[in-house]
Amino acid sequence: MSELKLYNTLTRQKEVFVPEDENNVRMYVCGPTVYDFAHIGNARPVIVFDVLFRLLRHKYGENNVTYVRNITDVDDKINARALRDYPDLPLNEAIRHVTEKTATQYHADVKALGCLEPTHEPRATEHIDGMVTIIQTLLDKGHAYVADGGQGKEVLFRVSSMENYGTLSNRVGKLNEQQEGARVAVESHKENAGDFVLWKQSKDDEPGWSGEFNGDTIHGRPGWHIECSAMSEAFLGKTFDIHGGGLDLIFPHHENEIAQSCCAHGTDKMASVWMHNGYVQVEGKKMSKSDGNFVTIHDLLHTEKFGGRKWPGEVLRLAMLMTHYREPIDFSVKRLEEAENIIAKLARRVEEASNGDAALLVACLTDDLNTSEFIAKLNSVSGEQLKLALEIVGIVFSKVENDLDDDRIVSAIEERLGFFADKNFAEADRIRDELLEQGIQLKDGKDTETGERVTTWEVKR
Ligand SMILES: [Zn+2]
Repeated sequence: MSELKLYNTLTRQKEVFVPEDENNVRMYVCGPTVYDFAHIGNARPVIVFDVLFRLLRHKYGENNVTYVRNITDVDDKINARALRDYPDLPLNEAIRHVTEKTATQYHADVKALGCLEPTHEPRATEHIDGMVTIIQTLLDKGHAYVADGGQGKEVLFRVSSMENYGTLSNRVGKLNEQQEGARVAVESHKENAGDFVLWKQSKDDEPGWSGEFNGDTIHGRPGWHIECSAMSEAFLGKTFDIHGGGLDLIFPHHENEIAQSCCAHGTDKMASVWMHNGYVQVEGKKMSKSDGNFVTIHDLLHTEKFGGRKWPGEVLRLAMLMTHYREPIDFSVKRLEEAENIIAKLARRVEEASNGDAALLVACLTDDLNTSEFIAKLNSVSGEQLKLALEIVGIVFSKVENDLDDDRIVSAIEERLGFFADKNFAEADRIRDELLEQGIQLKDGKDTETGERVTTWEVKR
């Protein structure tokens, strides 16, 4: 396979990719904050970095790539949603309902879009200790301070303590312009307007953990940025190869991840390559709930809200890949129809005699994931070679989705759980086997809280 070139936001140029360790190529991508249905803008990084994950596996070997995509399950937006949707429950229980429900939906959505599961999918609330450790190290080294934020104590990162703060977003030396995009309003307790929250004290009715800083316990919760510094370190180490996310995350989120990780670990980099996908707009307009053009993945797959019909996952996926990942996308019915036509042609050509060479197509992908050129050149291959090429971008044709939709699978699973409750194992097994014949594999597990049987499913390819 030809050498892989990736555009690096940090250096603002395309570079030949050289991993630190060819036997363990490491990538981190910021995942969802789980409080609401994922929209089509959220789908873009998931699809783009899934293509990169597949390409890296193709180049370095399936077992030699580690991909971490986190779940942010502590956030003030989650608290607000929990209060709105479950006013009668204790807040922590309500929060768990919101995050579990949203995470399950997210998994169903990205599976339908043909994405592989990442190697690890940590949740922020499982890594609080790691965050507390990093924050204390930053305090010890003079990169952080404790202040009274008016609503309680805060531990803040001292941006003036880092000489090259702002490199990623090209803001070095422009500290006073950094209020814009900050998560917390600028207040007088900060030494510098750009100082950002690492930890903030919780009120009694807010979720919180005991964090010990400089010998004092602050019952509180982490800031958003520190989560990714802790989770990436836990699975990928102090430095790793690729960090990805949407363009909107460059500042402040990724800039602050770099500041925290580099200052705590004494390293000159967090990740070697920083990659960012472009924005998504819908029918020529910025997506917004008030304009009525807020499109969720779930709606596209399962309702008739967009263009008056449902859209198969592989059509949504191809529609996304028709544009180079760094360019903005205008997501429209016309684009989806175009993608659907291409998919129909490809499905026929996969059945033809094998012709052409998939390697020529892979060469498009190794040039900074040029999926649009890849799609334009698909005409040059057919049969097995076409199948091979399509697998690398995650377009896999399956008959399953045509005759068996999600709703029917879910009701079959519920029926089967009923048979288990009645100890009618023969009927339960019959349903399992019938689904398997149609390409649906069930997985049984237990709910960690209630101990009840939980069944999930996946398409067996
Ligand atoms: Zn992040």
